[in-house]
Amino acid sequence: MYDPIKDPIPPADQTLPNSYWASDASNKRSPLNYRQLQGHEQSDVVIIGAGYTGLSCALELSQKYNVSCTVVEANQPGWGCSGRNGGFVLPGTGRLSVQQMTKRWNKKTSQNIYAEYLRSIATVKGFIADGIECDDTAGGYLKLAHKPSLVSSLHDQARALSDDYGDSIIALTKADIAAEYLSGTPAYGGIYYPNAIGINPWLFCQGLAKRVEQAGASIFGASPVISCERKQSKHIVRTELGSIEAKTLIVATNAYGQRRLHPVLTDRTFPVVSSIIVTEPLNQEQLMRISMKAGLMVMDTRALKYYYRVLPDNRLLFGGRGAVYGKDADNKKYLNALKQGLFATFPQLSDIDISHFWSGWVSVSLDDSPRIFHDKSENMLYSAGYCGAGLAFSIQAGKRLAQLLVEPNTLPDLPYWKTPLQRFPLAALRRPALRAFYAWEGIKNTITKQNR
Ligand SMILES: Cc1cc2nc3c(=O)[nH]c(=O)nc-3n(C[C@H](O)[C@H](O)[C@H](O)COP(=O)(O)OP(=O)(O)OC[C@H]3O[C@@H](n4cnc5c(N)ncnc54)[C@H](O)[C@@H]3O)c2cc1C
Repeated sequence: MYDPIKDPIPPADQTLPNSYWASDASNKRSPLNYRQLQGHEQSDVVIIGAGYTGLSCALELSQKYNVSCTVVEANQPGWGCSGRNGGFVLPGTGRLSVQQMTKRWNKKTSQNIYAEYLRSIATVKGFIADGIECDDTAGGYLKLAHKPSLVSSLHDQARALSDDYGDSIIALTKADIAAEYLSGTPAYGGIYYPNAIGINPWLFCQGLAKRVEQAGASIFGASPVISCERKQSKHIVRTELGSIEAKTLIVATNAYGQRRLHPVLTDRTFPVVSSIIVTEPLNQEQLMRISMKAGLMVMDTRALKYYYRVLPDNRLLFGGRGAVYGKDADNKKYLNALKQGLFATFPQLSDIDISHFWSGWVSVSLDDSPRIFHDKSENMLYSAGYCGAGLAFSIQAGKRLAQLLVEPNTLPDLPYWKTPLQRFPLAALRRPALRAFYAWEGIKNTITKQNR
């Protein structure tokens, strides 16, 4: 798999992401195929990357602010994370709980951030109501305690989110879960988010790209940006066969941009592999064995989480950590590790076959919080660092990027636009450190299992 830290530029010949979502098994709709950039183009704004962030920003700039913009994509829309994720539309981004955000800033800021999470979900639902097709399912999201000792803190969290953060989260006991949500796997307790929905993320991205085009912006595919230069007050973005000149540059490549794409972003995020398996469709008897509420999405509280959902065609999607390096991402070892996780969660499914396995890069920030930032000295903007939780949030972030450029004084008071992403010190040690972290978490999980 392409590796943003090691490879000089992303490939240009991979029209579709390697995921179940874009496969014929999932849908028979024809994928979009935007032409390659050739020759010289001019635009007010050039956006690099046609995932949710870049497309949502392009749509807002064209539709709301009437700014001319051009999106340039290495492959085709949704080739990155936006066509590979689990499709969990959840309130949240980064890795900070509301308690941690209160500690870092204060309670008001923590509440303002959570209000933005809720707006993110409303934004996604708004697009769906407005006709973006994405095989959406309303089943809610269940966060499961992976140890009995975590149940009470999860329940405290549910209370706080409902009383002070404008959400309506339900605290569940072991018996509640078994009766109504999931009885095929042991559970100690958890909390339930009724407003969360599941989607086909790649299809959603295709719908967003079509809206961008209808709004008058241009999209170029199969055109990885090789270099970004500044000439007087203009940006020149170059691809193999063309270039785009623009007043403003927006980098929306999240974890997929190559390390040297733009000096402002070098080593400000850490691309980490996340992987997913999808099974063959479960038959009625197998569905009964796991007895999951229709459309339910589940995640546990481990540092290295597993997450799963039953898809509209009754396949089980199961995700978790992947390899450390891109070159190893497709190795069977990581498929087998996820299979083991799946069978440990649902031993009664050990006869099921796996039909799809893929990986993608998530972008981790140094302080566990994303940024939507305008570097005014360079007149470039970016949004990145969602830490693997960015489906809903990146769509909202794209809108905020446009607002940050055109009318920054109207933005709500959130920390995201106040400081840039922090650069990773000792960036070369990120991967050895990740490998050590995985080994340590593996030991902790073994000890937890032995103590049960
Ligand atoms: C396996 C996996 C599961 C996930 N599950 C969930 C989930 O269930 N829920 C959730 O909230 N989040 C999830 N996420 C995270 C979520 O998918 C991302 O946060 C979100 O898609 C980020 O969107 P984006 O537009 O910022 O980035 P991307 O979708 O990655 O888009 C970046 C684009 O930039 C392009 N690009 C990069 N370099 C260049 C270049 N040099 N020239 C031109 N184009 C370039 C890439 O080709 C890519 O299309 C998951 C991620 C992964 C990998």
